[in-house]
Amino acid sequence: MNAAIFRLGTFAGGFGLMFCLETLFPCRRWDVPRRVRFFFHAGLMIFNTAILRFPAVVPLVIWLKFVNSRQWGVAPMLGLSAAWNIIIGIIVLDMFDYWWHRFNHRIPLLWRFHKVHHVDTHVDVTTALRFHPGELLFSALVKSVWIIIWGPTLWAFIIFESCVSLAAHFHHTNIDFPDRIENPLRMIFVTPRFHTAHHTVSKRTGDANFSTIFIFWDKLFGSYGVPDYREMEYLGLPAGRENYLSIVPTLKGPFSSEY
Ligand SMILES: [Zn+2]
Repeated sequence: MNAAIFRLGTFAGGFGLMFCLETLFPCRRWDVPRRVRFFFHAGLMIFNTAILRFPAVVPLVIWLKFVNSRQWGVAPMLGLSAAWNIIIGIIVLDMFDYWWHRFNHRIPLLWRFHKVHHVDTHVDVTTALRFHPGELLFSALVKSVWIIIWGPTLWAFIIFESCVSLAAHFHHTNIDFPDRIENPLRMIFVTPRFHTAHHTVSKRTGDANFSTIFIFWDKLFGSYGVPDYREMEYLGLPAGRENYLSIVPTLKGPFSSEY
């Protein structure tokens, strides 16, 4: 199968499924029409995909193929089979992603760009599409380093990226499982309740809960905050809320002095 079609299929399929689920079982009430959020965030995602194709995606794929041809990285050194390269690759790269997300909250320059994601006053599946192109550009640069460290195959990397978007669509979805489902699920995976807590202004959980796919990184590295429904009543950062669905303030935000 063509890797690009696989990537697009998992991205669109996961998004569509989560969109339907939050339509059927919404947890929080939306106070702006959902179509406005959908078109704004989908438009931003399409804009990002278009402008980053040649400066970020194409060079990253060329770099990945070059690293593979030289057999650089830990995975080729370990002589992992194709299947183990994928399975262990997902775990290792998810750990790198945890630290990248944590640095996005800690390093002021990165936080300026990551804030665009956190200005959203709601959390639903469309929030998973909301990123500033600057953050995605930095992210591509960082991923080029992950590639040379770990040495994933092209398919291992594409499957990891697909798992990340499936996980992101899932954990941003505006649903909340009953405890009998939430508790066992949250032993392994990042759930919507756990990640919504990351979108509060509370220092306790907003400045914690950085994992993307597997939840154990937060437990292992001491950033696990148990979600609290009272804290989750107010989502999104206090500044920039009035313009959060306007394209110019969204794109200019990281470059303005008040940000
Ligand atoms: Zn964050």
